[in-house]
Amino acid sequence: MTKWVYSFSEVDLAENQVGGEWEGVRALLGGKGANLAEMTRLGVPVPPGFTVTTEACLAYLDEGGQFPDGAWEQIIEALHSVEEVTGKRFGDAANPLLVSCRSGAKFSMPGMMDTVLNIGLNDEVVSGLVDATGNAHFVYDSYRRLIQMFSTVVLGIREEPFEDALAKHRASQGVESDSDLTVDELVAITWEFKTIVERYAGRPFPADPMEQLRLAVESVFRSWNGKRAIDYRNAAGIPHDLGTGVNIQTMVFGNMGEDSATGVAMSRNATTGEPTMEGDYLINAQGEDVVAGNRATNPLAELADHMPKAHAEFAAIAKRLEQHYRDMQDMEFTVEHGKLWMLQTRDGKRTAQAAVRIAVDMVEEGLISKNEALLRITPGQVDFFLHPSFVPSSLETAVEDGRHLATGLNVSPGAAVGVVAFDADLAERWAKDGRDVIMVRPETQPDDVHGMLAANGILTSRGGRTSHAALVARQFGKPAVVGASSIEIDLMERVMRVGDTVVSEGEWLSIDGTSGHIYLGELDTRIPSVDNEWLTKLLSWADEVRDIGVWTNADYPRDAQRARSYGAEGIGLCRTEHMFFEPDRLPVVQRMIMAKISADRDAALAELLPMQREDFVGIFRAMDGLPVTIRLLDPPLHEFLPDFEELMTDLTDLKLRVKASSTLTEINELLAQIQADETMLRRVEALHEANPMLGLRGVRLGIMLPELTRMQVRAIFEAACQVAKDGVDVHPKIMIPLTAHVNELSRQRAALEEEARAVMSEHATAIDYSFGTMIEIPRAALTADEIAKNAEFFSFGTNDLTQMTFGISRDDAEKAFLVKYLEDGILDANPFATIDPKGVGELMRIAVKKGRTTRPDLEAGICGEHGGDPDSIALCRRLELDYVSCSPPRVPVARLAAAQAAITDAGEVAVAPV
Ligand code: ADP
Ligand code: MG
Ligand code: MG
Repeated sequence: MTKWVYSFSEVDLAENQVGGEWEGVRALLGGKGANLAEMTRLGVPVPPGFTVTTEACLAYLDEGGQFPDGAWEQIIEALHSVEEVTGKRFGDAANPLLVSCRSGAKFSMPGMMDTVLNIGLNDEVVSGLVDATGNAHFVYDSYRRLIQMFSTVVLGIREEPFEDALAKHRASQGVESDSDLTVDELVAITWEFKTIVERYAGRPFPADPMEQLRLAVESVFRSWNGKRAIDYRNAAGIPHDLGTGVNIQTMVFGNMGEDSATGVAMSRNATTGEPTMEGDYLINAQGEDVVAGNRATNPLAELADHMPKAHAEFAAIAKRLEQHYRDMQDMEFTVEHGKLWMLQTRDGKRTAQAAVRIAVDMVEEGLISKNEALLRITPGQVDFFLHPSFVPSSLETAVEDGRHLATGLNVSPGAAVGVVAFDADLAERWAKDGRDVIMVRPETQPDDVHGMLAANGILTSRGGRTSHAALVARQFGKPAVVGASSIEIDLMERVMRVGDTVVSEGEWLSIDGTSGHIYLGELDTRIPSVDNEWLTKLLSWADEVRDIGVWTNADYPRDAQRARSYGAEGIGLCRTEHMFFEPDRLPVVQRMIMAKISADRDAALAELLPMQREDFVGIFRAMDGLPVTIRLLDPPLHEFLPDFEELMTDLTDLKLRVKASSTLTEINELLAQIQADETMLRRVEALHEANPMLGLRGVRLGIMLPELTRMQVRAIFEAACQVAKDGVDVHPKIMIPLTAHVNELSRQRAALEEEARAVMSEHATAIDYSFGTMIEIPRAALTADEIAKNAEFFSFGTNDLTQMTFGISRDDAEKAFLVKYLEDGILDANPFATIDPKGVGELMRIAVKKGRTTRPDLEAGICGEHGGDPDSIALCRRLELDYVSCSPPRVPVARLAAAQAAITDAGEVAVAPV
């Protein structure tokens, strides 16, 4: 007979059942159940209870809503055991056992599946319990909560009728909080609630405790397939075939009076990572009250004054659980008449900053190894350090102008700017239209997640650090400020108010999730520095274990500088075309292209030479001591000329002006202009290509216009000689793009190297240089043994290589069919984001292998955008590339990803990142 139910004291049995792996226990019992059982084993005070397995859930759903054989019987049996342990009886009016019914899947899905508390109460039990406790307030408070939760969660009635009834009673008593209602009010409310149930559900509230329990369990099972659960799993990448566990647990009561409380806490600060506990609690309250954000909570530190004994015990348990799980814990607790009970623990969600600091601190505390720390941080979390914050001057101006609107809790760092949208659907729609959006809600709920993901940032007026909004924002790295209680949101009028200030939907707002401040208008943002003590340390550990270089793509000295400060070890791609586009140069470049006779072309090139030289001087200085790979001109020439249509319009315009002009000089000037434009137009037409991507570009340009690439090489070597004389350690690498055939390369290289030698001898300076090529065309990859004769290095231009291998142009694909290909699963991943391992990756493998048969010390790297993608980095490492080169802001990410690839390839199991 299958074992469907495990008591919290049977974690050993569960472990045996799954073969000893803790992940298996979590899969079987769900995360909540597994940890409740583990805490029980550790001797932490946990109210007795049991878990119905995820397998039972799947079987129930599979069988179309039938308990699998023996499951219900096992539940009853387990309930009897709990009765024995507690000395109470389920449904017994004299000494009743009350339980909660809690869902819990393998991965925590905040707020996805609802919990029902106080199961086992009915009119009879209630009166018995009043006699036994002498606390009618507590009993009726619990009863009305049961009816409300049961009806909304299990019977599917909406919250509003219940909330309206409560609001009416609060108003008539003039109290703010439900806990301040009198016993009489509570009694009246339970009656009203029961009428609501009959009216909306067409059936009475079930008085039979067993029926309550059975319906609650079934409802948890079914909630696995609820829409919000499915949406959340889709967003978080959680598989749909895991099922949820159901935990039935003896109730403990935080609502028994002033010596009772309930709260949630993190064992470290989840925002900054500081090693101090943080949390919230409420006196005389139950469960959800703390996270619901209806009542102002007290910070955990105050519990030390209120209930010193419980606080001390909790602090010790938090520490112990951290040591046991070797990670920061997110815990729930309840104090009943001064006695502490633990109700949940799990690895806590945290910001990127906190994740890094906690991982590093835990290494230094001896809790985890450096490699574990490296595996715990996701590349995305490192990326987060490069996200925007407000430009200080912009911030100052906002403050001076009185645009500081309000302050809330800083629950998920980063600055975000956007227009206010008051609901998730609108936020999503506006974001799709390309607008920047801040989603503003009183508080968020699971069905708001799509809007939260679409928004740049999230703002709520209610809720604490552990509210739904805070959890989701942290998990998805969205800047968020919650609980900004001075903001009053009017969803009917679609405005928010702070004092006299009114902000309407669609107006600009800027929020700072790092500080919690909220500003009116559109503040400027900037990329912060990665100069964070803990990140620096973590990345230095990454550098110790990684065995593939991390270089950068940089065209300007400032980018080179920045990348170097992020840890780049060289430039893998310096494109020269950007320099040609500078406004003061473009006319010269155009003259060079337009030249009819070579004397004119030489004159234009001579003008460009010193400009190019200066570019390289700056970059060489910035990269003193490191290699700099410079790619010779690559794009088709027409890119440097004006657009055909634009020229036509200009011409028409000029002709009209001739007609209208009155003086001869004016006419002459215009005519000269017209003539120039017409020449340009003819050249543009002449350079027009049917398929520019496959046209006159790359090495072909150098073959057709050898003076051009020779000028570039001269500029590079003159710059190198110049800085070398100043003591700069310079290592230029000349990279010829888009080679298909070895003969292209041999010719170009011979001409260019001759120029290089000429410059070096003119300056009597020897420069350490090398010549190489990009591998971007399948033919080059397949003939790499020949190519390598003339190339000292290969650099994979994986963007073009992907286009040429798939035979698709990226721009056209993204516009037309790539999305459908991904949606329909024709492609598993976007090959322009992650290298296609079977096609493009295979070509790379062949190229490296063949290239190194000719030239064993052939250096190989990648300089496409893929160089910053973690999966592609892992592939490059396996292909034995020497380095990956990526944009400056990806450099820190690549350092971590390279280390992770080295660790996981060496067989160390990845610890699931939080
Ligand atoms: P969630 O996953 O939404 O946090 P939980 O199952 O953890 O749902 O329960 C919701 C709230 O009810 C929590 O605050 C929890 O601590 C509280 N709770 C659950 N079971 C009990 C119990 N047996 N006694 C007291 N409080 C409980
Ligand atoms: Mg819940
Ligand atoms: Mg919980």
